[in-house]
Order: sequence, then structure tokens, then C-alpha cells
Amino acid sequence: MADSFVSFDRPQQADLDRCVHCGLCLNACPTYRELGVEMDSPRGRIYQMVQVANGAPVSASYQEHIELCLACRACESACPSGVQYGRLVEAARAEIENSRRRPFFGRLMRRLVFEKLLQSPRWMTTAGVMAYLYQASGFQKLFRTSGLWKLFGKLGRLEQLAPPAEPPFFFGKIGKTFRAEGERRYRVALMAGCIANVSFARLNEATVRVLQKNGCDVVVPGGQGCCGALHVHAGLRAEARKLARLNIDSVLRGDFDAVITNAAGCGSTLKEYHELLEHDPHYAKKARTFSALMKDVTEFLASIELNRDMGPLPFTVTYQDSCHLAHGQKIRVAPRALLAAVPGLTFREMPLADLCCGSAGIYNVVENEMAMAILDKKMRNVNSTSAGVVATANPGCILQLEAGVRLHGNGQRVLHVVEILDEAYRQREGR
Ligand code: SF4
Ligand code: SF4
Repeated sequence: MADSFVSFDRPQQADLDRCVHCGLCLNACPTYRELGVEMDSPRGRIYQMVQVANGAPVSASYQEHIELCLACRACESACPSGVQYGRLVEAARAEIENSRRRPFFGRLMRRLVFEKLLQSPRWMTTAGVMAYLYQASGFQKLFRTSGLWKLFGKLGRLEQLAPPAEPPFFFGKIGKTFRAEGERRYRVALMAGCIANVSFARLNEATVRVLQKNGCDVVVPGGQGCCGALHVHAGLRAEARKLARLNIDSVLRGDFDAVITNAAGCGSTLKEYHELLEHDPHYAKKARTFSALMKDVTEFLASIELNRDMGPLPFTVTYQDSCHLAHGQKIRVAPRALLAAVPGLTFREMPLADLCCGSAGIYNVVENEMAMAILDKKMRNVNSTSAGVVATANPGCILQLEAGVRLHGNGQRVLHVVEILDEAYRQREGR
């Protein structure tokens, strides 16, 4: 569904002009590394965007090359000319969405996922209950461990990526406040996500506990919902703007020192609400206020005086940079500094830690073959560290890496950095 800002939803000339076509980004690009094809490199994709801006049609081939991009933004980190590639590819996808009609089944699936499932706690809860029954019945374990999944081709591979259901779901905590342990130093809002309410309910609870341990009153504001990151990546910017307005209204009703997310992919979009709504006269200013308050949980914890009253964890840990934390938000030191604060923990850096794992929102579902090829390489780097724990900072990466461990790993645990801190605090208390 379009809105009155749709004319801005295409790559802007000023952004395209920044690229000097030097090619220094090519080696940072996972799809170029896999295929060696210029049109599937950042420079090649920008070249195609320029052609479309100059009047070339939004063709099926253009759509293919733009959709095979992970939107991981590694090229942004590599680019010496400051090209904002994330902004470009999101706008290019919106232009494709507004120019080309997808086949009926594709339209139906996108409608169900983006307009219904992700936006409705009721739909999400129903899906979560069904997923839980599948898990609890033992069918999932049988399917995954017997090798049966190999007989089902793509469907079998997709099953490996199915998010878990973790009842009781976190929806019940929305609208509640959790008091700081000890002296209150901060009052923060937690964005609970959409799928995370069902599939990462324990991670959300761990995030609340760690923030409480660090002197935060944690409010989970009522009226919040999906952040719209998946919509932005899919080119559905009007829908994303609608969700952004809801979240802004929900959060700005309160008085907070920071707004926190534990999902790097969501955080990137939440921090860019001011760009999403820059042309909306009613929300542009509010969006700037909101974006300025937004913090990734690792960024926030590393910026305050951390509660170091933790028990020892004899873990060997490697860290996978989430693309939207490292490249989108430029946060690399904070998660590593938090891991270094855990007593007893040994850290081993993996090669190419900031190269995408292939998750990229729903990329691993729609571009499964490429995602799995990228994951295979990632797991070789993970395995080379002999670490027993892979830490990361994004639920999507956790799902992808868990599939990686099942397919190519050595039984590693995959944990969010905050879950490791939570374990260390609980260890101290003998829980
Ligand atoms: S995006 Fe940056 S690094 Fe890549 S070709 Fe353009 S200017 Fe060079
Ligand atoms: S966002 Fe990632 S996959 Fe897309 S062009 Fe840039 S480096 Fe390549």
C-alpha cells in the first residue's frame, strides 16, 4: 500500500553520485565473493541503479540482482567515499516494489507475512502455538536428526531455519515495568520486537534482568509493535512508516534515558526512523527525537558503569558481528568489551567475523541457496576457533548460526551477548 511519500522511495541522485566506481568494496561483498559477478557486487548494483535513474526500465534482471543483495552493508564499511549503500538498496527495493507486479502467490505470501503475521500479536501467537506443538510432539527432532529433511529439498533446508516457539510468550510483558535492582540509575524503554515475543521470549527476559542488574527501571511500553525493519528491507516503506509512527507514539509518551533493543537488525531501522519519516511534516521531528534515544543493548551497557558482580563462566567464546550492528550501526567494540568483562571467559576472534552469516532478515528463506553457501563458509571460520560458544547480537543471526551448528558445526552453543552476561550474573547468585 503506497502513501503520499512514495515519490521519495527511489535511489536519490545525490546518494548515487557519491560512488566513484573504485571497486574497493568488492572483496567485502559476500555475494561477489561467492559468484565473482560484477552485477552482484556493490559497484555493479550501484551502476544498475544509476541506469534506472537515467530512464532504464526496472527489469526482471535488475530485480534479481538487487534482491540477491543481503543488504548487509559490508560495502558501506569498506567504502572510502562514504556511499550510504544501505539507504540506496532499501530505496531501490521500494522502487521495484512500486514498479513491478509480483506473481499471485508471491503477493499473497507477502501480504500474509508483512501485513498480517508481523503486525498482529494474535496471528503471531497462533503461529507460535502451532510451532510449539510441532516442537513438543517430537516431530521436529525426528525430522532434523534422522536426515529426513534431506529428502524434502528446499523445504527441508527451510525447516532448519524455523524459529523456535518459547512459551510463555513475551507479549504478556508488554505494558509492564520492571524495577531496577538496587539504586535506580536509569529509566529505559525496551522494544520487544515482533517474532521475538514468541521465538526469543527468554532472550527478552534475560535482557530485562541484565538491565535491572545495571540499575535500570525497564519499561516495555504498551502500544509498541514490529519495528518495520523487515518491511524496509523488502521495499515496503509505506507499511514501515505506519509501524514507525506507532512505535514513536508508544515510546515518546514516556520519559526515558534510552530506548533499548537486543536485535541489531531492528536497531538499525529504529535508529533510522528519522530517515524513513524525513518527509513527514507531523513525524519528522518526533522521529529524530526517537532515533537519538535508540541504543543497542550492548552499546548501552558498554557506555555505563557496568555491574561487574558476575560469577565465572569457563567458556571459550567467539563472536560473530551482526551486520546491522557492525556495518549498520558501527558497533564492534561494545559487545567484545562486555564479553571481556565476564570472569573466566576465554575469547577467540574468528577470521572474517564481520562477514555476513547469510541470515539477513528473511533472506535465508527467499534466497536460501546463497544463504546456505555463505553459512557453510561462516561455519568453517567458527569451527577454526574451537570455541564452544558462538556469541552474536541479533536474533536472526542466532537462528542462522544454530542451523549452521546443526549442519556443519561441533555442537557449539549459540548465545546473544546479553544471555552470556545473564548467565554470569546468575552464576554469581548460585542460580
Ligand atoms: S561503493 Fe564506494 S568502494 Fe564501492 S565502488 Fe563505489 S565508491 Fe568505490
Ligand atoms: S549490502 Fe552486502 S551483499 Fe549487498 S552489495 Fe553490499 S556487501 Fe554486497
